[in-house]
Amino acid sequence: MVRKVRVRFAPSPTGPLHMGGVRTALFNYLFAKRNNGKFILRIEDTDQTRYVQGAEDYIIESLKWCGIEIDEGIEEGGAYGPYRQSDRKEIYSEFAERLIESGNAYYAFDTPEELEAMRERLKEEKNSVQQYNPLTRKGMRNSLTLSEEETNKLLKEIPYVVRFKMPEDEEIIVEDIIRGTVKMHANQLDDKVLFKSDGMPTYHLANVVDDHLMKISHVIRGEEWLPSLPLHVMLYKAFGWEETQPEFAHLPLLLKPSGKGKLSKRDGDALGFPVFPLEWVDSKTGEISRGYREDGYFPEAFVNMLALLGWNPGTEEEILSFRDLVSSFDLKKVHKAGAKFDHEKAKWFNHKYLKTQSDEKLTRQYQNDLKERGIQVEDSYVIKVVGLIKERANFVSDFWEQSYFFFQAPTEYDPKVVKKRWKENTPEILQELKIKLEELETFNYHDIEKAVQDFLEGKEFGMGQVMNPFRLTLVGAGIGPGVMEVAELLGKEETLKRLQAGIDNIQRQ
Ligand code: GLU
Repeated sequence: MVRKVRVRFAPSPTGPLHMGGVRTALFNYLFAKRNNGKFILRIEDTDQTRYVQGAEDYIIESLKWCGIEIDEGIEEGGAYGPYRQSDRKEIYSEFAERLIESGNAYYAFDTPEELEAMRERLKEEKNSVQQYNPLTRKGMRNSLTLSEEETNKLLKEIPYVVRFKMPEDEEIIVEDIIRGTVKMHANQLDDKVLFKSDGMPTYHLANVVDDHLMKISHVIRGEEWLPSLPLHVMLYKAFGWEETQPEFAHLPLLLKPSGKGKLSKRDGDALGFPVFPLEWVDSKTGEISRGYREDGYFPEAFVNMLALLGWNPGTEEEILSFRDLVSSFDLKKVHKAGAKFDHEKAKWFNHKYLKTQSDEKLTRQYQNDLKERGIQVEDSYVIKVVGLIKERANFVSDFWEQSYFFFQAPTEYDPKVVKKRWKENTPEILQELKIKLEELETFNYHDIEKAVQDFLEGKEFGMGQVMNPFRLTLVGAGIGPGVMEVAELLGKEETLKRLQAGIDNIQRQ
């Protein structure tokens, strides 16, 4: 029987979602959509000490911004809810008990001091591992070493945890879709705590129980969870759920641009790019971490960039819409090696997407910026400006520096350009040009071009000697689109006014 594809993204609300987390969500989503499956959001908040206010909303908003639609989750509901682990609290103790009954888990009463003493002893005896495991558990206070009577008494009197009884001498073999066969020996593993003294399950128990109850078919998560895989597989076995155990796929790490080490939450601020999808304000310290959204990235560009970190469709094509991603996504093509994040490439993606946006949409966005600068201009003018400059920008926030001169006449002139371009005879040349332009009845690109060409006929100076200083008078600097395009858009009156102002005010240097 072919299994229905059901995948989950299971973040812990311990802070803002890192872009690596968004990529995990994205790969889950793409895999689900590719296979007509369901994408589930499960909030894993059993570690109450690490809970951060606002993180859950942040996760949901981030997914929404990226266009990742949740089929089942806290807001959406679904047949396998609740979808927040703290709301499923009652479920887990029953499963912990089941494991105790079947002899796969036990109660442990050791105090933190006793645990520490055990570790110290092992260190002194030069043991390479200092763990609670099949060997050491024999000398500790637990339901395996105590009588039933003592155990029952302690259960009522002091805090306890439930530990997994890791079998001895067992080889654990699992197939990972990305990594192939993963082998591990039980002797290297410890008796992990499954249920804590605060009445909450640990990640391992809750995760496995929920994946089972929610009928998850594939667990797709970051490589950092690979060390937990053998324990999870042992848990499936202990519960007798081998038949329906999900398939596993552990995604490669995202690496720093240097390729050295994992891209961490701190890197963004240090290396000058965001590592979070949205801006995050730490409610305790007030510290602000940058977000791709606030930095002006289009969600489509962000998603496209993320999708290609650790995967590609096997073609040279890099610009892939959501639909393209869904139709070509294949977990088997995900790489094993870590994926280096490249900020320049991220900007390149945004540039590509910016160029495909309609001038109307970009105009709407640019108008917000202009308004904030106190500039009120008709959309019909702004749209033309946008059409001229969008090729040169990575972000809408770059528009101003590429086009401020369309909205205000220069009040100063870039001295470097003046020095290079403003010659002794320049005022005279421009004065003559101005007369030519004044004669024009219509003032479009072709008229201006023709006027300049006529003007140059028979002159001993070339185009550059006219156009460069002409640009300086219009723009105040050596930047911008073609001079004639600038002049056309500024219109005859404004062009002539600026030309004259330049002639009058620019001092040769
Ligand atoms: N709660 C874990 C996390 O924060 C989930 C790991 C998993 O997907 O199993 O990433």
